[in-house]
Amino acid sequence: MADQPQKIGLMGGTFDPIHMGHLVMAEAVRMDYDLTKVIFIPTGTSPHKQGMPVTPALDRYIMTMMATYSNPYFFVSPIERDRPGPSFTIDTVRALIAQYGAGTEFYFLTGTDTVLELHTWNNIGELLELCHFVAASRPGKTTSIAEAIKRLGPKAKERIHRLTTPELEISSTDIRERVRLGKSIRYFVPENVEHYIHKEGLYLK
Ligand code: ATP
Ligand code: MG
Repeated sequence: MADQPQKIGLMGGTFDPIHMGHLVMAEAVRMDYDLTKVIFIPTGTSPHKQGMPVTPALDRYIMTMMATYSNPYFFVSPIERDRPGPSFTIDTVRALIAQYGAGTEFYFLTGTDTVLELHTWNNIGELLELCHFVAASRPGKTTSIAEAIKRLGPKAKERIHRLTTPELEISSTDIRERVRLGKSIRYFVPENVEHYIHKEGLYLK
């Protein structure tokens, strides 16, 4: 019998900072889709967040490492951090296919809010040919994604899978605001990430 193809999850994000919502979602998708591993990929300069101040890529990378290191299935890639200029998922996926071989199946993990933006992504048509997407439910983002998937064309229906995961109503935006206001972020992020944020004085203004 032929070997099953390796299934790898890709969790892209700004991770400014990474939080429990990301981790719970990624672990749920990993188990449900029987993924060999999940690679977290913090953006370098995100094309979707330009114009807004984003914490240096190295701080976001370090926090992502700290948050994931104890999970044997979670890995972090510097591929976008090390790339000059804005990072596009299509370039990342092409590079990972070259690295792992065409036999590997890639599953790009997203929250429902990201699915609503997919039509703005560079080369989304090719991306849908190259990898699957798993749209995990995200609280507060109740807009139906069925319409968004339909708009992306027939390939999207085949490639974008929806999954109900445990929902945590946490966002990085909210965490940054809480820190700025001097509110607690305990249990919103892993303890070591909480310490890193305070030690480095992130999000104070
Ligand atoms: P920001 O508020 O700065 O946009 P964020 O919390 O949305 O930050 P991102 O780094 O933008 O975090 O998200 C990376 C990916 O994780 C996206 O696909 C997003 O939809 C998903 N995601 C973020 N927060 C959650 C959550 N609480 N539950 C499920 N998915 C989430
Ligand atoms: Mg976001």
